[in-house]
Amino acid sequence: MSTATTSKRPNLNWHQPWCKQCGVCVGVCPTQNLKLEQGEIIETGKCTRCQMCVKYCPDQVLSLLEQE
Ligand code: SF4
Ligand code: SF4
Repeated sequence: MSTATTSKRPNLNWHQPWCKQCGVCVGVCPTQNLKLEQGEIIETGKCTRCQMCVKYCPDQVLSLLEQE
């Protein structure tokens, strides 16, 4: 995992090849932490690590990164 990827998504791993950009994760996030920007899911610093996005993504694209 590259540093650049981690800085865009400090809490989540996003497996790009599986993402169909449906926006479900953006919609279910209770804190509006996620954004779909230029075809990429990014975080905006409001993640509470609730895992709603992980659970609702229809293609298991997202997973929670281990906390340091
Ligand atoms: S819910 Fe999953 S497939 Fe849909 S945009 Fe989010 S990460 Fe991609
Ligand atoms: S883990 Fe929860 S707070 Fe963090 S991005 Fe996913 S839905 Fe939003």
